[in-house]
Amino acid sequence: MTATHTHAGGRLLELVGGDLDVPLVGGEWVRYANLDNAASAPALCRVADAVAELAPYYGSVHRGAGFASLVSTEAYARAREVVGAFVGARPDDAVVFTRNTTDAFNLLAGVLPAGTTVLTFTGEHHANLLPWRRGDVVDLGFPASAAEALAVLEAALRRVGGAALVSVTGASNVTGEVWPVAEIARLAHRYGARVALDAAQLAAHRPLDIAAWDVDYVAFSGHKVYAPYGAGVLAGRSDWLDAGRPYLAGGGAVRRVTADDVVWTTGPARHEGGTPAALGAVALAAAVMVLEETGWERIRSHEDELLERLVAGLDAVGARRLALWDGGDRVGVVSFTVDGVEPGLLAAALSAEHGIGVRDGAFCAHPLMAHFGVPRAVRASLGVGTSADDVDRLLDGVTRIASDGP
Ligand code: PLP
Repeated sequence: MTATHTHAGGRLLELVGGDLDVPLVGGEWVRYANLDNAASAPALCRVADAVAELAPYYGSVHRGAGFASLVSTEAYARAREVVGAFVGARPDDAVVFTRNTTDAFNLLAGVLPAGTTVLTFTGEHHANLLPWRRGDVVDLGFPASAAEALAVLEAALRRVGGAALVSVTGASNVTGEVWPVAEIARLAHRYGARVALDAAQLAAHRPLDIAAWDVDYVAFSGHKVYAPYGAGVLAGRSDWLDAGRPYLAGGGAVRRVTADDVVWTTGPARHEGGTPAALGAVALAAAVMVLEETGWERIRSHEDELLERLVAGLDAVGARRLALWDGGDRVGVVSFTVDGVEPGLLAAALSAEHGIGVRDGAFCAHPLMAHFGVPRAVRASLGVGTSADDVDRLLDGVTRIASDGP
């Protein structure tokens, strides 16, 4: 692949690599239209700059007296502060660096106090379904409106009682619906339960504020907020995290070790055994700082405009869009099927014939897709690097493939 210097225009922020040219099946090269931001959003230029700035000071975090170690340790600590501020953490919350959202929820599942029942809606991403299945789970089904979600949740909380955790997504990775997180937290707390927020999709599109929403835990992934892979976050109440079994037993997670005993430390280090991925944390922090500096209103209006264009275009070609409920707030994630065209073939043809990147499949949400009665679909997802031209090319590609076949 080569990077060209022609600017497609219409992007909100610049991405590493700028305009990429990709080959088509006929041998021609075209500018890549990336409409797969919900899977992994390409890194921002300023994230790459932050990584390059730290790279010469690559030293072991918390383990060296040399200058490079001190710089890396300081950068890692600063990244934790930035991320804490980004999620709106309370002063006594822990901010733990993980590998990603999946890792964060597995960590949380491992520290749940005995007897805690987890309540989840059934259309969640597998990362927010499977870690809980090692304990008691109450399945809340597929509500057809935000109001129904609250009603179903309240009925379940009344049955289950207080020793419960409600784990809910902020925005669906299949349908883009934004969930009523603050209302869910209010309800859960009324019954003595805690709330965990899967912000894997929400974090790139809307500001997070766990203190204002009274959410107990939040998880998200760096690679979905325009940083590279390998760093994610679990932030929230320290008590369960300090009392629970260390997620990664090893160096850094301990206060003292003897031949036959160990005293584990408390705070984030308890769950971050081993040498931490400082560059990943710094990249993640740089990305969220850029998003905040850019401003959520600008990010949202850029995306809302593109989303409206995308939805109108898909409706015009007769695509079937997947949704739990109509209306309400939505992030730029749209999954759809086109009659007579297998989703895998549609996605492959969009790539090979049009240079467009989308995702196809069941989006790690098999129960939700079964609920919709479609085993697979195509998903187009928007981001700060998406332009109107990208959306138009997708619509043109879908129209051609729908009429001529893949
Ligand atoms: N939750 C949601 C809503 C997601 O969209 C994803 C990833 O697609 C995840 C959790 C898991 O994120 P990761 O693969 O980074 O662990």
